[in-house]
Amino acid sequence: MTETKSPIPEPLSAGLYIVATPIGNLGDITLRAVDILQRCDLVACEDTRVTGKLLKALNISKRMQRYDDHSGEGARAALIERARIEAVALVSDAGTPIISDPGFRLVSEARTADIPVTTLPGACAVIAGLTLSALPNDKFLFAGFLPAKEKARVAALEEFAAIKATLIYYETGPRLVKSLIAIAELWPKRDVAVARELTKLHEECRKGGAAELAEHYTANPPKGEIVLLIGPPEDEAFSGDPDTLLTEALKTLKASQAAGEVAKATGLDRKTLYARAMELKR
Ligand code: SAM
Repeated sequence: MTETKSPIPEPLSAGLYIVATPIGNLGDITLRAVDILQRCDLVACEDTRVTGKLLKALNISKRMQRYDDHSGEGARAALIERARIEAVALVSDAGTPIISDPGFRLVSEARTADIPVTTLPGACAVIAGLTLSALPNDKFLFAGFLPAKEKARVAALEEFAAIKATLIYYETGPRLVKSLIAIAELWPKRDVAVARELTKLHEECRKGGAAELAEHYTANPPKGEIVLLIGPPEDEAFSGDPDTLLTEALKTLKASQAAGEVAKATGLDRKTLYARAMELKR
């Protein structure tokens, strides 16, 4: 009798495996992700229905446990103890766990508890959007979702006004036009890209000025998932005298508002301008 290799896969060593899954196109699952999902003992996921569909499509039957960072200390501690003795795969609904998705606390506490943690990279909408946009990619800053409320949204954008890098945000269809209008007011000249439905049938990447894009998406309300990208400010460093602008602005505005307006106009740091505005007022 010849000996054949057992068809049962080798057990995985215990630990936490961060597993990226596709952002819309099943074909983007990696070979390593399939291997780990097949061989792990437990899949910790945001939503068992969503992950259940993925596992079914991959022909994998596996124990799942719902987890997000609000699941509570007890649930997290229990999962960490599991990962001490079993292989636990962490997935989110789509893309790379932890990137605007649950898992940060789990990984952080697992590492503190000396649990082996490893990562299986794969699809991530930030990177897919950036590569498709053809905006400068030598430096980029991903800042999650823009806030829903107008004031907070403008403040969030202004925070990075002077950063000489492509800014990347996750966005939703219903909020896209509002964000584009805010960007058009702040930075009418910057290149903007809207990357929508990446890797899916209706993938689209539209580039232009924010005002032009706002007009387009007002006429064609966007469906699906969106990455919003804003090209860096033009490489014209402000060469004037900020004091002149601040003095003028202080005639009608409070120091904080004057600093905000001058920061917008020049790309200079708002906090520095505020300190200078306070000095000028004295
Ligand atoms: N962790 C995920 C990743 O790695 O991309 C992101 C999770 S976040 C909760 C979901 C957001 O990512 C969506 O609202 C959308 O802004 C963006 N996104 C996810 N999939 C996308 C896709 N296929 N096309 C465009 N944007 C996508």
